[in-house]
This record gives sequence, C-alpha cells and structure tokens, in this order.
Amino acid sequence: MSPSSLSAHFLSLPKAELHLHLEGSIEPATVCALAARHGQHLGEEEARRRYLYANFAEFIEAFKWVTSCLRDPEDYALITGELGERLLAQNVVYAEVTLSIGVMLLRQQKPQANFEAMCRASEGLRKQGLRLQWIFDAVRQFGAEAAMEVARIAPQYRHEGVVAFGIGGDELALPTAAFRAVYDYVAEQGLHRLIHAGETGGPQLVREAVEILGAERIGHGLGAMHDPALLEMLAERRIPLEICPTSNICTGALARQLTRDSARIAEHPLPDLLRQGLAVVLSTDDPAMFHTSLLAEYAHTAAMGLTEVERDRLAALSFEHAFLPAQEKRALASARQSAQL
Ligand SMILES: [Zn+2]
Repeated sequence: MSPSSLSAHFLSLPKAELHLHLEGSIEPATVCALAARHGQHLGEEEARRRYLYANFAEFIEAFKWVTSCLRDPEDYALITGELGERLLAQNVVYAEVTLSIGVMLLRQQKPQANFEAMCRASEGLRKQGLRLQWIFDAVRQFGAEAAMEVARIAPQYRHEGVVAFGIGGDELALPTAAFRAVYDYVAEQGLHRLIHAGETGGPQLVREAVEILGAERIGHGLGAMHDPALLEMLAERRIPLEICPTSNICTGALARQLTRDSARIAEHPLPDLLRQGLAVVLSTDDPAMFHTSLLAEYAHTAAMGLTEVERDRLAALSFEHAFLPAQEKRALASARQSAQL
C-alpha cells in the first residue's frame, strides 16, 4: 500500500512521530553528498546497495557505515534540515528524534558542537510549523560506561529540547541489569527513559526494561506478543510500544519473532496489540534506510486490517504519548481535532 491510498483528509491532518533516528533518515543521495564533502567518491548505486539487508546484523553494519559519513557539525545540520523538510511534507508537526550520541563519542567527535548545529538548523523548521524534540541515545553493545557518558551529556541540553535518554543497538549483547545505574541517574536528572527492547529479543527483555530500568515507552517491543501477562501489564500502565512495521520486515525482526524465514507486513501484530488495549505509536525507525515514510506506514495499516477509525485512533496516540507538558499536548490535540472536523 502506498501513501496515495490514504484519503486527502488523512494526508492533511497534523501528525506526530516518536521513534525516528536522525542517522537512519539520510537518503542515499545525501550519503553521496556527505562522502564528496569529505573527499570521497561514492556512487548512488553503491549507496543504494548498502541499504539492503538480509537480517538485523547486516542492518547494524549499514547503520555504522552511514554514520561514518557524518564527520562535522555541518553534516549534522544538513541532515536535520533534510529530515525536517520531509516531515513537513507529510504534515508532521511534532517529532521526537533520536540522535546517536554513542556513535559520536566512539568517533571522538564533539556531540555538543554537532547538537548545537542541529538546533540552529531546526529553528527554521519550527517557523514552518515543525516542532522537534530530541532523545540522546547510547549503543547497548558499547557497554554501561559508554552509556553513562551519553547520559551525563543529555541533561545539559534540556533547554534545547532534549527530553529523554535511550539505548539502541543489539539488545542481546548485554544484560539489562548492566544499565540500571545509568537509568537511575537519568531519572534523577528528570529525563524520560526509553530503550529498544523486544525487537529481536523475547518478552523478558521488555519486562526487564520496565521493571529494572523504568522505561516509559518501549522501542518496538514485538517480543511482548508472546507473553499475555506482560501485555496486560503494559496496557494497564499505559506504556506504549513504538511500532515500526517496515523496519521489522527489513531487519527480519518480525520473521524472527514468528520463528520463520520471512514475514509479510500483513502479518504484523500491530492490530492485535491495539485491540488488546495497548498504546501503540506508529513510527518509521530509519525511514531512508527502510525505504519508507510515516505516510507509507499509515497506508500499510490497511493491509494489516486496521479500519479507518482505528487508524485515526492510532494517529492520535502519538500525540497522547509525546514527552510534552500536558498543556502543550492539549494544544496539539485540539489543533488536530479542529483539522479533523
Ligand atoms: Zn529504533
């Protein structure tokens, strides 16, 4: 299903997106432009070839390769501007964008300088009607000490819209408990707590994310589908799953959860999760790297069997679960409601 299958009315509605990696939003043509800036020739065909993966490990390799093209603050400003333009074209008015500070530190860059350039780039977007907030992300397989370094930087930029700390990467690499002190620190600093869990891993990792780390939203959380008691707990506590269907197909995460060689988007459990009362927020994860967009994800929900009423409800949930003060959330929701009339 392509975005053209969505009604003109739905296309025009204000939207929000909560699980979106800046580095995964870099289109192949921009990877080539970044490479050229740093004196390397890279053909677009080669860049496109790198954006194909047979499994999660290959995707992680491609993500590493893309980030190797990001060398200085101007690069980060460029990709922020491009992401913002694409969001505005879809009538996205609010997004929480994840930024891999862990990768910047690994490459011995100055996250502060990169982030300040991004903030400058996002000022123009704000004037056009797109509000961005930020999630500073650590990489699980780099370990707890590296994660703590990211956690210490995040609170310094709360005034620039950093609202949360998260961890991504290979969730099977290290036990959840290894990060307890990091999340305790983040909570003390008054930041929201996020983590990727249950993407390739099982329900236990989702449960641990909530019980050990106090995670307030779960990145993916597919593994929860195997544990009815856990689903009940997530529904009761209103802890959303950030569901990214195309990503789950491209990385093989859904096939893995279904213990099969491959899976189709129509088999995604999103409708079941929603109908069981879970808060689900629909997202793209890495839109360029998965050849998708937020509108394409909404279009896919029809193939999954979601009704238009359910799809509208789904779109509203991304506003309800945004990390915004209640008053601002109400203002966005009422702007959305009046557009809906
Ligand atoms: Zn993600």
